[in-house]
Amino acid sequence: MSHSRLIVAIDGPASSGKGTVGMLLAETLGCLFVDTGAMYRALAVLAEQKGVNVENQDGLGQLAQECQIRFLKTDPQDKWAYRVLIDEQDVTEEIRTPQIDMASSRISAYPNVHASMVEKQRGLARVSGVVMEGRDIGTVVLPDADVKFYITAAVHERARRRYLQMKSWGGDVDMEQLESQMRQRDRDDSRREVAPLRQAENAIVIDTTKLSIEEVLKEILDKLPADT
Ligand code: C5P
Repeated sequence: MSHSRLIVAIDGPASSGKGTVGMLLAETLGCLFVDTGAMYRALAVLAEQKGVNVENQDGLGQLAQECQIRFLKTDPQDKWAYRVLIDEQDVTEEIRTPQIDMASSRISAYPNVHASMVEKQRGLARVSGVVMEGRDIGTVVLPDADVKFYITAAVHERARRRYLQMKSWGGDVDMEQLESQMRQRDRDDSRREVAPLRQAENAIVIDTTKLSIEEVLKEILDKLPADT
């Protein structure tokens, strides 16, 4: 199969490296990259702006159904690898705060919100080849993906990466608080009833705790079906 038409699902917990490696993989294959976590984050920002509380499941479900989310490629000099637009509003910066970490995790557990997002995600994958990353891509969103990866790493290492990432974005963060929030989010994401974080049966597992991004990318490329 032509690599640019491959459907690749990448799942795993927060800051496991799946976003960075997914983006590089999409660039290498010449296909679309979709960060599904950013979609839940964008919705959380929109809800906050509109005064829709995280408890208001009906209100959030309606917003999820009606909103439009787009990803924009950026110039090399942009500090963001891609920009996230919800209803044409650029929320790239706003979606990366610790409050939105927690709010997005909370709202993604609502079945009505989840159903609308899955529909949008499948729509994006219908166009051509795609590398899509999230928590439930191989299990729920794209169960027929050509290849599935489950990327994980020790929680302390993930918190350290997230800390460095947030610092590089100019954020003021506390490492200990970040690690405890990450443990909480891992628990919430894996224990919830709707599409919990778990590895698909046929997923290839890669533990990135001691690997560089280049090493992870190489492992992934080695495991892809032959390019035809
Ligand atoms: O991946 P990221 O940390 O940006 O995702 C933010 C939150 O969105 C996660 O904690 C998770 O609860 C939720 N999410 C989800 N399903 C996905 C992607 C993210 O429920 N496919």
